[in-house]
Amino acid sequence: MSHIFPRHTKQLPPVAVRGEGCYLYDDHDKQYLDASGGAAVSCLGHGDQTIINAVKAQLDKLAYAHTGFFTSEPAETLADLLIEHAPGNLDRVYLVSGGSEAMEAALKLARQYFVEKGEPKRGRLIARKQSYHGNTMGALSAGGNAWRRAQFGPLLIDMSHIDPCYEYRLKREDETPEAYGLRAANLLEEELLRVGPENVMAFAAEPVVGATVGALAPAPGYFKRIREICDQYGILLILDEVMCGMGRTGSLFACEQDGVAPDILCIAKGLGAGYQPIGAMLCSREIYETIEKGSGFFQHGHTYLGHPTAAAAGVAVVNAMLDRKLIPRVKTQGDKLMAALHAQFGQHSNVGDIRGRGLFQGIELVADRDTKAPFDPSRKIAPKIKQAAFDAGMICYPMSGTIDGQTGDHVLLAPPFIISDAQIDELVQKLAGAIDKALQH
Ligand code: PMP
Repeated sequence: MSHIFPRHTKQLPPVAVRGEGCYLYDDHDKQYLDASGGAAVSCLGHGDQTIINAVKAQLDKLAYAHTGFFTSEPAETLADLLIEHAPGNLDRVYLVSGGSEAMEAALKLARQYFVEKGEPKRGRLIARKQSYHGNTMGALSAGGNAWRRAQFGPLLIDMSHIDPCYEYRLKREDETPEAYGLRAANLLEEELLRVGPENVMAFAAEPVVGATVGALAPAPGYFKRIREICDQYGILLILDEVMCGMGRTGSLFACEQDGVAPDILCIAKGLGAGYQPIGAMLCSREIYETIEKGSGFFQHGHTYLGHPTAAAAGVAVVNAMLDRKLIPRVKTQGDKLMAALHAQFGQHSNVGDIRGRGLFQGIELVADRDTKAPFDPSRKIAPKIKQAAFDAGMICYPMSGTIDGQTGDHVLLAPPFIISDAQIDELVQKLAGAIDKALQH
């Protein structure tokens, strides 16, 4: 009898007991290749002694001190490190325990900024359909994933959701990717004009969409146009890099590759690499100073803000990424994974799209390649792939998402940055086997 939930299966799942490099092991010593880093968390792999030792050393000195009274050396160091490498004029760091907390803080910071600036009408957020920003009420309201929102309607805040930038599904045949990127970005302006720009505080988006559509990168120029529109109408740009940040796409922050910098940036997952729960919200000096000169205090907070042990893990993770030159490695191994996926699935009659950046990749499954029709949801393709891969000793992240009102299936891949060439082959072979099995049923 187990008292713990959530449970994703009727039976008790295997007990995870240890991890080593790209593998996890259960209590029967069965080995699992971690092809999704859990949920894009384990960027350094498992059992990394440098990070473990940094956490242990911090515990020996100081596990926790409340930010109402103290700052701490690891929290200060982590903030300095992040700002040293952050894009644009991001200048201040708010350390939290995970992605939803970072997004929740971002929404409240944006709102407080405009109140203190003397623009109190600005309270509306524009975000995108098929995005995920977390499971707390504000973050869930910002997310446009119908399935995750379905039961909580009365609790959610009214926000706008425009179409995502989704070339495979929404680009017209006669359009160039650039023209489509521009058209998709201009939807923000349309929505601003519809609801009145004076009522809007911010636009929020994941630069590369993760959990809901499987590593969906923007069309060229999309975010540049988004940035222009935000500036033109005086709204903030909030980028959610909880999944796609921290080196995952081949640059420390994903937005660097789109040539834009946000006013507020959220990160989590890879920041702690699974060794500690930690997230962060970074904001511009202008936002911080407006609040500092106004009421002087960001009206928000959690008990575990700036947790010293979590921050020590964050410092060790960022330093490991930089010292070991893992981010360029993400690019080279990412190219190899992409090539291997194309070789394996490029002609597959049920693989519609293979996409992503760095070691953040996805494949979209379709019932018919020509019409792009998704599988009937009753076939439960994504859960079947997950189970078949798990049985074969691999963790990947298949999902069902809503596409044009229909449910479609994708698989998200986000292996540790240390994945070897042989492990890339193992991943692709196991994935091919799992897809075959799921399609046979
Ligand atoms: N934003 C994005 C883009 C995410 O992928 C997630 C988690 N999947 C979150 C926010 C929420 O993060 P957490 O689960 O750590 O609260």
